[in-house]
Amino acid sequence: MKLRIFLLVTSYCLLVTGLCGCQNQQLYTDNRIMMGTFVEVISPYKQAAGIVFSEIKRIEDLLSKYKPDSEVAKLNQSGKLKVSPDTFFIIKKSKELWQTSDGAFDITVAPLVDLWGFTDKKYHLPREGEIKNTLKLIGCDKIILHDDDNMIKFKLSGMKIDLGAIAKGYALDCAVNKLRKAGIKSCLINAGGQVYCLGGKFGKPWKIAIKEPRGRDFTGYLELKDKSVATSGDYEQCFIKGKARYSHILNPKTGYPADSRIVSVTVIASSGLTADALSTAIFVLGKEKGKALAKRFPDVEIKIIEKENVQNNR
Ligand code: AMP
Ligand code: MG
Repeated sequence: MKLRIFLLVTSYCLLVTGLCGCQNQQLYTDNRIMMGTFVEVISPYKQAAGIVFSEIKRIEDLLSKYKPDSEVAKLNQSGKLKVSPDTFFIIKKSKELWQTSDGAFDITVAPLVDLWGFTDKKYHLPREGEIKNTLKLIGCDKIILHDDDNMIKFKLSGMKIDLGAIAKGYALDCAVNKLRKAGIKSCLINAGGQVYCLGGKFGKPWKIAIKEPRGRDFTGYLELKDKSVATSGDYEQCFIKGKARYSHILNPKTGYPADSRIVSVTVIASSGLTADALSTAIFVLGKEKGKALAKRFPDVEIKIIEKENVQNNR
């Protein structure tokens, strides 16, 4: 089927509640712009949104490369830093995922992301030589981790990290942990299409609407309980020059935007971090290698849409 899973939760879910005739079962919704995206929280618990927003803010303040006081920005600036347990954990996890994905998932792509203009949205087609030079700075083997004191060091000056492919998923996991600790058993968080469904909605799974890859229509929905969903796609951030579409997900081996014929990949997993990182990695690897990678994770389901399955496949 010609599906791209593009997650839209919001009013669709509320509409379904209304249709169920659950008059006594109220849902609270709230939203905020955070981590560069629209974060929406839906829960029968009034206090859920406050808990989610404060936890996402805490993680964003540590991990955003755009916030000059964040640990990641300081590490990128100085090339070495003793960091908090959260930052250490996610960088260590990223390095493991780099290994597992055979280098497809690589947080050291930051200098390439800058070179192509995706950081400041001033898009630029680099020359061959620029790419070759920048590639020297890429590779998680050049990140040194000291477990004893949470010190992180870069081997080469000019190296930088970008946690844009994993931080939202981790932030959702942290928020869900806080919700569970507060006794909240039902909540849906949608952070710009990266979703976590905590528990169900009034005993039934949450319903997540699915949208066409290049269109606006909804084509179906997912029903989820205690699962996260992440989608990586070539339409999210890209620029078009001539006949080519240049997407923000880069192949760390070539230095060019990933060209795996995938339009979008959706990953469903119990952990937001896993769903987020794997969707990016599979986008780079392509269908066959991507499926093989997903099989190495116990509770992961994936849905891939390739170029030949969409109408406007530019
Ligand atoms: P996502 O939307 O989760 O697939 O993340 C994409 C973002 O992650 C990009 O905007 C870049 O900031 C960063 N990124 C790009 N290519 C890679 C890659 N191969 N591995 C890890 N992060 C990447
Ligand atoms: Mg991702």
